[in-house]
Amino acid sequence: MRYAVIGDIHGNLVALEAVLAAIEDEGADALLCVGDIVGYAASPVECIELVRERADHVVAGNHDYGTVGKMTLEYFNVDARDAVEWTREQLTEDQMQYLRELPLTEACDDVLLVHSTPDHPEEFSYIQTLYDAALAFEAQEQHLAFVGHSHVPITFFDSDPLDYYVVNELNLPPEEKVIVNCGSVGQPRDLDPRSAYALVDTEEGRLYLRRVDYDIEKAARKILEAGLPETNAHRLYWGR
Ligand code: ZN
Repeated sequence: MRYAVIGDIHGNLVALEAVLAAIEDEGADALLCVGDIVGYAASPVECIELVRERADHVVAGNHDYGTVGKMTLEYFNVDARDAVEWTREQLTEDQMQYLRELPLTEACDDVLLVHSTPDHPEEFSYIQTLYDAALAFEAQEQHLAFVGHSHVPITFFDSDPLDYYVVNELNLPPEEKVIVNCGSVGQPRDLDPRSAYALVDTEEGRLYLRRVDYDIEKAARKILEAGLPETNAHRLYWGR
């Protein structure tokens, strides 16, 4: 199987369309989404519809649940909170219901999807250290887990000792569990402003972390025109 994995789209339709076109060119058997379809940028309605139409499996992110009142906005920074409140007003009841019903985790074959961590998906914590990864691996039953949330592509191996890699291509060890952060489609934060997604070929045992150029200026303009916080537009140029 060839799985394409996207996440942290955050209402950036210009980026999502560029990534979906790249995935179509590359060819994948299934499209998986690790959540945060909305928040920050100006096209939540269109992003929900595209993901709903194209993705085979989708899990919820904290911005998705925050939008529908399934989690507190207390820990959101002010620009994120403003965008979530704005997003709420754009969506139809049907789209609100779609976000509300997204599961926290989903397994397909030997692949787990979760926005934050396999150990406590409802807490929306980050996997940023080897210690975080160790806790996650304890709870992970599948060979491969895809996560999002930090917007930084990185791969952890459950080797002895644990290890992590920040590279674009990797062979997946069949005997070790792996956690992959696929990076962010709509708001990359690793100082590379290009859109990110992951592709895994389970037969080949190979992982690819892809980057795609998109029209950042167009996405930024939409954010400003919608009256959303200016920071949400400016950070796109810097990838942070
Ligand atoms: Zn996010």
